[in-house]
Amino acid sequence: MSYTVLARKFRSQTFDEVVGQDAIVATLKNAISQDRVHHGYLFCGTRGVGKTSMARILAKALNCLSSDKPTATPCGSCDSCEMIARGEDIDVVEIDAASNTSVENIRDLRNNAVYRPTRSRYKIYIIDEVHMLSTGAFNALLKTLEEPPSHVKFILATTETHKVPATILSRVQRFDFKSISPGEIAEQLTMICRDEKVEAEPEALKRIARLANGSMRDALSLLDQVMSMGGAKVTMDVVNELLPVAHDELYADLIDRLAGQDAAGALAVVDRSLSQGRTLDLWCTLLIGQLRDLMVLRLCGEDTELVDIPPGLRSRLIEQSKKFDSGAYVFMITVLEELRRSVKSSGSGRALVEAAVIRMAEAANFSSLSSLLAHVEGGPPAAPAPRMSASPVASSPAPTRTAAPAHPAAAPASRPPSRSRRTPTPEAAAPAPAPLRRMTQADMKAASADPIVRQTLDVFGGQIVHVQRADDASAIEPA
Ligand SMILES: [Zn+2]
Repeated sequence: MSYTVLARKFRSQTFDEVVGQDAIVATLKNAISQDRVHHGYLFCGTRGVGKTSMARILAKALNCLSSDKPTATPCGSCDSCEMIARGEDIDVVEIDAASNTSVENIRDLRNNAVYRPTRSRYKIYIIDEVHMLSTGAFNALLKTLEEPPSHVKFILATTETHKVPATILSRVQRFDFKSISPGEIAEQLTMICRDEKVEAEPEALKRIARLANGSMRDALSLLDQVMSMGGAKVTMDVVNELLPVAHDELYADLIDRLAGQDAAGALAVVDRSLSQGRTLDLWCTLLIGQLRDLMVLRLCGEDTELVDIPPGLRSRLIEQSKKFDSGAYVFMITVLEELRRSVKSSGSGRALVEAAVIRMAEAANFSSLSSLLAHVEGGPPAAPAPRMSASPVASSPAPTRTAAPAHPAAAPASRPPSRSRRTPTPEAAAPAPAPLRRMTQADMKAASADPIVRQTLDVFGGQIVHVQRADDASAIEPA
């Protein structure tokens, strides 16, 4: 007997079964009952929130053969409803734009659209991932959307609305699908387990719901895995075994090395970690996740519900989280996110990873930098400088100077970058306790010779545009 994956078995078949999209369901049902169905819809939202299911339900509602007009309650059992549910109906054409991006594909569609539907009321085109279409294909589609034959309906779906041209957006009715809340997902999982006669611990289902990140499809595929591993039981033990808590010992080790400014040690850990066979961008994603948890723990405390960490591990992670301040977390996450994007298209992904790790390890030096720089700058800053974030020299991105993809702008700037290139004047400087005076060439020279300053420039890239000092600073006395 073949096993049907839960995501397919429990795909919603009627408007009332759709989870978490009440407003959209109500609007569509109204449109159908008032005979005001638009000729084009755009369903926007992240993966697994029910866009394709909703598109098929709408198609069934329009074409159900058991009703003599469109109905908000399609029968689900006529030939049309059944074929649409399987994605095989002759009058409901599903196109994956990701693999049919060319203008010819859309021209075919246009040529076909002029013919009346074979047996149904409407010819319906469901175009998934519509943002993937080429410009030519968009233009061809636009012509059809502008004056579609009365028997044609379009249902477009996308995960990246910002990539859909405005000309298309203005010709369709747009619906934004919400991420499904962990509560709604858990409720659905509970219902499914009851239906499947599977015993399930509520805590285990809640954890799966949190891990699914708003995607019902992901939740169901996780539940599939847990069920196939745990037999007829869904327990916290099985869930933890299959989906180890988002806490990876090697990442924890790496984070410790970064905090300890141990670039060499960090590279060794990276080597071990990468040998586990993850793709580089997944490696980045998981490390970002771990840093994110630490950041949230640091800011919100041990009892926060914003992280998925079992109580037993929390106190340990709390300790680790204290090794960085929030500015440092923001910096590292930004560096890693840019890294994640660039490794996907780079032939030197590993080198980029290592460069970014060195960059983060060295940036940790800023905790000691900030106090030393205070002398050069002219007295200690009014408030303790956040680690990695206090840059007394104007830091401006210099993209060519390092292999690391991230920009120094990642670090919270202590003053607006727009000032950095202007002729320095006392007015342009940040307020300081000591009186300001114009800098001299000698000041510049002395400042740039300082090893700490040079390291700062190396790490962030930038140039010195202004030096100021307090009355009592004698280190850089002008000639
Ligand atoms: Zn039907």
